Amino acid sequence: MAICLWCDCDIVPHITWPSLFSPEKPTRLCQACTYRLYKLQGPRCRICSRETEESTCHDCAWWAQYFNNEDVLAFNYAIYLYNDHMKDIITKWKYRGDYVLGHMFADVFYETFQRVFSNLKEEVLVVPIPLSDERLAERGFNQAEMLAHFLCEQPSSFVERVQGEKQSKKTRQERILSKNHFKIKKRINKPVILVDDIYTTGATLRHVAVQLRKNGCPKVYGFTLARG
Ligand SMILES: [Zn+2]
Ligand SMILES: [Zn+2]
Repeated sequence: MAICLWCDCDIVPHITWPSLFSPEKPTRLCQACTYRLYKLQGPRCRICSRETEESTCHDCAWWAQYFNNEDVLAFNYAIYLYNDHMKDIITKWKYRGDYVLGHMFADVFYETFQRVFSNLKEEVLVVPIPLSDERLAERGFNQAEMLAHFLCEQPSSFVERVQGEKQSKKTRQERILSKNHFKIKKRINKPVILVDDIYTTGATLRHVAVQLRKNGCPKVYGFTLARG
């Protein structure tokens, strides 16, 4: 019997007629833990995935204006709301180095990716937001890279972080005005899908997007596990 990756309880298989004929993939979270994750649903901002009745939320309208009505980010698709349960999971996974926990998102991340991005006709590059070497050494792995590996064998790694990324204590204004900490190692002529765990203000994705666009990239999308 499978064990829930979060609460360690035994997962009781849910037998239905269809599942007898086509066995489902192994579940990694029990029903109670799955239930506490909130999938974004219903109307959402077409740019950042925030749940709202408006087609573009006020933050994204602000970004559009900031970039003279040409936001460098085409859109970011987020799967879950960054609620307390998601926060607990991400804290344990990312900051306390529990690598295995990330596997609970493998299927949902891959399946959502297929659904949302399958209409892009051209070849796109999947690029995780990098950590600095220092942070990587501290944590042991990059959670964004793990997510990107759920999507493809060989995520691209031409984005580099040149300095620390302790952005969390800054206000939005400070973050935007602070120096861009990303560097692109080569010219890019294909669209890029940036992968990260959380979209909070959208500043990080846009910092990378600015650099990508400067280096020839025609279009930049985001795909994140959660929307803060
Ligand atoms: Zn559980
Ligand atoms: Zn928005």
